[in-house]
Amino acid sequence: MWRNCSNCQALFYAGYYGDHEDYDMGKCPQGGMHKPAGPQFTLGETSVPFISTQTDWRRCIYCYVLYFSGHPDIPPNYGEDGACPARPGHGHVHGDPAPNYVLFHGLGEGDHLQSNWRNCWNCQALFFGGFISQSACPKDGGDHYSPIGLDSTINFCLPYPMKPRIDGENIGSSNIRIHGWDFTMEGGVDIAWAVFRNPNDPVVYSEDSIRLDRAMAYFEYTFHIPEAGWNFVNVRAWDSNSNGTPANPLSINH
Ligand SMILES: [Zn+2]
Ligand SMILES: [Zn+2]
Ligand SMILES: [Zn+2]
Repeated sequence: MWRNCSNCQALFYAGYYGDHEDYDMGKCPQGGMHKPAGPQFTLGETSVPFISTQTDWRRCIYCYVLYFSGHPDIPPNYGEDGACPARPGHGHVHGDPAPNYVLFHGLGEGDHLQSNWRNCWNCQALFFGGFISQSACPKDGGDHYSPIGLDSTINFCLPYPMKPRIDGENIGSSNIRIHGWDFTMEGGVDIAWAVFRNPNDPVVYSEDSIRLDRAMAYFEYTFHIPEAGWNFVNVRAWDSNSNGTPANPLSINH
């Protein structure tokens, strides 16, 4: 899968060994590996009728970012594009054969779609334009550059699957902490819990709503159970932006 790097803001491939911090996450211009954040985006190699697309997006075999390979070669670096953080003085390189990814653009924001992804004019990477001041370009050590104020600058959109899930634990003193993943970014979460003393006999039912910031595909939420003598609590959560897609149900013991 493809992830946003919270250290350089580029999109990079994090799919080689799974989804753990200690796996191979390429090379980041900030040093070390890219740091995955946000949802797991999916890219395809086929165009879709009636949707604006651009081809020639490739994965760099050295730094793992997605970059635009459609510009003519610049001597003497034939077969290279932009600037690669894994090899100073060189551009990104793709394998041969290599997937030729097709990006959508002009679709705006959606429940399963994030816009404001841009092509950096200096390093050719695809990067998220919402946090340019927190980006890092391997070309000259500054931020990524794309004139996103111009209407002619392409606004790419990346799709991600909707699969909200939750986990949780009793952290003591009748406080319950819930962890959530893969809800709609900048969307909402509806959460509800029923406290039981005996099965089939809830003593209290409560609910709340949470707003998620961008890059908060993950959230934490803690609530307190004031009723004495409870045995377990059942927790449910729904992604309120995608027609209430439910997360997995959860039951936590006292
Ligand atoms: Zn990075
Ligand atoms: Zn590279
Ligand atoms: Zn750049």
